[in-house]
Amino acid sequence: MASARIERRDFIRLFSQAQFLAAAGRPGELPPPGPPEIVFAGRSNVGKSSAINAIVGRKRLAFTSKTPGRTQTINFYSLADAARLVDLPGYGYARVPRAQRAQWRGLVGEYLRLRPNLAGVVVIMDARHPLTALDAQLLEWLGERRRLLLLAKADKLTRAEQDALKRRFADALLFSSATGQGVEECRGLLESWLEQTAEIKSPR
Ligand code: GDP
Repeated sequence: MASARIERRDFIRLFSQAQFLAAAGRPGELPPPGPPEIVFAGRSNVGKSSAINAIVGRKRLAFTSKTPGRTQTINFYSLADAARLVDLPGYGYARVPRAQRAQWRGLVGEYLRLRPNLAGVVVIMDARHPLTALDAQLLEWLGERRRLLLLAKADKLTRAEQDALKRRFADALLFSSATGQGVEECRGLLESWLEQTAEIKSPR
């Protein structure tokens, strides 16, 4: 069936309409699959919440945490029933107990493996320390899933460091919620994911 065509202005409206939908701490709590989901993943404290807030143009949709590793639920945000944003719990915080790490792998692993309506995954890495061992593991899990690498906190790098990163990660996007660098471009890419995802419904 042909998908409804969504105009650019609808997308801008769509992102700004993000509303909290559900939080899942166990696979059984995941909301039933619905519209296409754009997923955000990254190490604790990498700037994931700030990135989500910058993308939707809101100050406090996703809660920025002063305590790394605290959020252990997958949080779903609805974009007017036409798409969803999905905030995965951060990984790699050293002081998280072993049992909690296993819980993370169980929950996130099941979500990434089985979710049929996954439009793509935004993998957020620290521009100053890209591709940690856990980032690499996540990318391996993602396999052929569509993904975008965001190199966050780019404002902490010099121009020369940014140029070097661009050469190293040709398909990554330098991003800063602090300065707005890369935000528009990121939105554009996510919009193209949604446009390419067949079952998308027209926003109301
Ligand atoms: P999360 O744990 O990945 O959700 O990270 P947060 O969004 O809560 O951010 C963690 C810390 O990094 C906070 O102190 C933020 O103020 C800071 N931060 C987030 N984004 C940026 C950015 O683009 N530039 C700079 N310089 N700091 C940032």
